[in-house]
Amino acid sequence: MIIDCHGHYTTSPPAHEEWRRRQVAAGPGAPPGPAPRISDDEIRDTIIGGQLRVQNARGVDMTIFSPRAASMAHHDADAVGNAAWADLCNTLIHRVCRLFPRNFVGVCQLPQAPGVSPANCVAELERCVTEYGFVGCNLNPDPSGGYWTDPPLTDRWWYPLYEKMVELNVPAMVHVSSSCNPNFHATGAHYINGDTSAFMQFLTSDLFRDFPTLKFVIPHGGGAVPYHWGRYRGLAQDMGLPPLPELLLGNVFFDTCVYHQPGTELLARVIPVDNILFASETLGAVRGVDPETGHPFDDTRRYIEAVPWLTASDRQQIYEGNARRVYARLSAQIERQAAA
Ligand SMILES: [Zn+2]
Repeated sequence: MIIDCHGHYTTSPPAHEEWRRRQVAAGPGAPPGPAPRISDDEIRDTIIGGQLRVQNARGVDMTIFSPRAASMAHHDADAVGNAAWADLCNTLIHRVCRLFPRNFVGVCQLPQAPGVSPANCVAELERCVTEYGFVGCNLNPDPSGGYWTDPPLTDRWWYPLYEKMVELNVPAMVHVSSSCNPNFHATGAHYINGDTSAFMQFLTSDLFRDFPTLKFVIPHGGGAVPYHWGRYRGLAQDMGLPPLPELLLGNVFFDTCVYHQPGTELLARVIPVDNILFASETLGAVRGVDPETGHPFDDTRRYIEAVPWLTASDRQQIYEGNARRVYARLSAQIERQAAA
């Protein structure tokens, strides 16, 4: 099986995002408008012409699917507003998974808000996992959208959420949302900053001593981390910390959303095969065709196939085995959905 661990519903019906635009425009405290009316046929159309077409063209069997990351925009509303928005977004993902049970398993958006304890996310995570069969969450390390006003991911501030993740046995993908800081382009800088910063936070903390089974996926190939692996190894050594595999590779994993061959080869050379999960972040992170190859930049399977030293067993780990291990509820959910 080929499992893509990182896909977003970027093609959701327009009424969905329109609801959020109105909610944000109405400002905090305004009563939420009625839920948008979106038919199953509308959902089917957006998936069949979008994600499913790409899955089929690339031989991908299953996508771990979450709401559009840029639209989480936790900085655009307060915790109450974001809770209503997360509920709508997650329910829409659940509908996609019910309509296409063999192709999509859900991951939820959390109702984070700047300055608000992540304890407020526990109920929505539990609801999505226990009622919707979701297998993880997207955790925004910077709900302020580019100003980093909340404590680092390793602070006790986040522990109530981690306790629930451990109890439910679900990982988080560390995933920022849009940027409202003009210094940081969202997908070109803020995303990669978030990935890189989260890794360094993990490196300098006792988090995994406190939560030995807590797991994070750092997307976009781990940001700058694999390229600078020597720096991180050296920093850890200077701080008297154990080698990185011992320090955090039981808890931290990287996806393959790297959109060229040399970058993918660097990832696969530096990061152990057991810590790499196949992903493409379709549709829409990068939309074009690479004129040097004639293939879409985000057709990441081609790069994995072309890494000369990976064995069939290595690829099986990257495509399937690691996803089933990190997303511990995934195998049972795939069986449940196949039987539905
Ligand atoms: Zn993403």
